[in-house]
Amino acid sequence: MKTDVFIAGGGVAGLSLALRLVKEGVSVIVVERQKGMGNVYKGELLQPKTLCIFEQLGIYPKIATEIRPLEKIITKELNEKNEPLLEVVMDYTTLQTPINTAAMIPHNCLKEILLEEASKYDEFQLLQPATFLRKQSDHEVIVKQGKEEISIQANLIVGAEGRESKVRNSVDIPLKKYSYSHQFLTVTFPSPPTLVYGEMIGNHERFLGLFPLPNNEVRSVLLIREGEYKEMKEEGLEAFYRAYKELKPDLEGFVDQVGSWKDIQLMIPVRHTVSHYVEGNVIVIGDAAHSVHPMAGEGMNLAIQDADTLGDLIAWMYQHQLEGDYTQLKWFERVRKERVEYLSWLSHQSALVYNLSGNLTQKLRIKAIKRLATNRRLHDKQMLNIAGVGLWKFGVIDGLSALGLGKTQLSENVINKYLFSKEDDYPWRYNKKR
Ligand SMILES: Cc1cc2nc3c(=O)[nH]c(=O)nc-3n(C[C@H](O)[C@H](O)[C@H](O)COP(=O)(O)OP(=O)(O)OC[C@H]3O[C@@H](n4cnc5c(N)ncnc54)[C@H](O)[C@@H]3O)c2cc1C
Repeated sequence: MKTDVFIAGGGVAGLSLALRLVKEGVSVIVVERQKGMGNVYKGELLQPKTLCIFEQLGIYPKIATEIRPLEKIITKELNEKNEPLLEVVMDYTTLQTPINTAAMIPHNCLKEILLEEASKYDEFQLLQPATFLRKQSDHEVIVKQGKEEISIQANLIVGAEGRESKVRNSVDIPLKKYSYSHQFLTVTFPSPPTLVYGEMIGNHERFLGLFPLPNNEVRSVLLIREGEYKEMKEEGLEAFYRAYKELKPDLEGFVDQVGSWKDIQLMIPVRHTVSHYVEGNVIVIGDAAHSVHPMAGEGMNLAIQDADTLGDLIAWMYQHQLEGDYTQLKWFERVRKERVEYLSWLSHQSALVYNLSGNLTQKLRIKAIKRLATNRRLHDKQMLNIAGVGLWKFGVIDGLSALGLGKTQLSENVINKYLFSKEDDYPWRYNKKR
């Protein structure tokens, strides 16, 4: 078999890249080892930048019928008796972008749309279930389907197989891993009608995230300490329901509809980074290149944004007969690495804020959250960054601003300067120097 681009992994990264490429006439073979769409909980929060990418790809109208818009996230802190200590809002609608909302979509529903769209093109081929085994030479990979080993010739090889990427390992890209002392339980269940926006609720020892999905459901994540999963399971589902209802009493009659531990997924957060994303004609994207702590809901978005950048670059290389000049692939790293690493760092900071239990750490957290949400300068910068529509790192002036010294407002013109332009996103199309 022969193709322009071989993609290992048919997750959101692999399928988004495939769709981008086949639309531009570049042929693609995707191999996916799972039989169907898979049944584990994965990312469901789409940031505004990702929605803008879907608009450019022409699939936004279809996506829009399956999402639940998420305009605001309410952050609450409760005392030991679970009485309110703080309630602030992080508001996407303050963004000066054509799409200024996030959205929730079931992960598999998004993959189905990407697959359905890509399948409309003759240039798209999917081998499923089939597993990427190894890279045989620079332009040959071996895939196993059933009992058969298949050789595929490709110009470019993309690793999009998630955290345990074999493609990444085949070119010895080194990995740095960080772990955390907490874990999460995650499950979807019917939503109470009072839940309109996203909610992040913390007290001195726990954190609960609630994100409304379409069809009156809610996706939840509960932070637990190491060892607590076993204790809770021994006590029974009552312990699980109680943890939810203490933080959000409105969940009475809703969370109890989770009928079995089998429906509840244990999620162990890890963060990893790699030194580089490109090695010759091999590129890694999505979780294969970087996994981020799930607290800020960025993982799936970074994967789709990687696919958009790489897809446009490869299409441009083919349009300009540069498909054999692999040094051009370094553009991908130039555009994506700084953005990804900053968001990975921001997600890590959000995780640290909830990592330790106790009243003192809660007091510090309340102070930090209050400043972030109520100081317009900090709020708008945070929204710009997490939405993925721009990059403006926090610095000394922000520190002063948080202390009430210096500027607390940002004029529209200033924030617009930090929004990504087409030239920032696709610099190879604008004769920029690498
Ligand atoms: C419980 C949970 C909750 C999360 N919540 C969020 C969230 O709210 N927001 C967010 O943005 N992100 C979230 N994430 C992270 C997000 O799901 C990932 O960052 C995203 O799925 C990465 O996409 P990917 O395509 O790079 O990798 P994956 O989704 O891991 O896809 C990789 C694919 O490759 C396949 N594969 C692996 N090895 C091979 C092989 N050798 N051959 C062939 N195929 C192979 C796998 O079967 C899989 O389908 C969450 C993750 C988890 C686990």
